[in-house]
Amino acid sequence: MTEEMGFSGSGEWSADEWTKEWTIHVGKAYHCLKCGTMAMVTKGGVGVMEPKCCGKNMIPVERPDDIR
Ligand SMILES: [Zn+2]
Repeated sequence: MTEEMGFSGSGEWSADEWTKEWTIHVGKAYHCLKCGTMAMVTKGGVGVMEPKCCGKNMIPVERPDDIR
């Protein structure tokens, strides 16, 4: 799967911008649409967070409190 991120050809990203873009924030949650499992980030870091469950990518949850 390829997704255009919208920054092609418009200059270089600074290290700061990259760091901001890739920083994983504590408290960010992911949820599986199939079985309802939730995963929450409990330790921050820099990298790509792509949790999987039931063979599919888990969906980022902006407001974990809304999930019932
Ligand atoms: Zn699942």
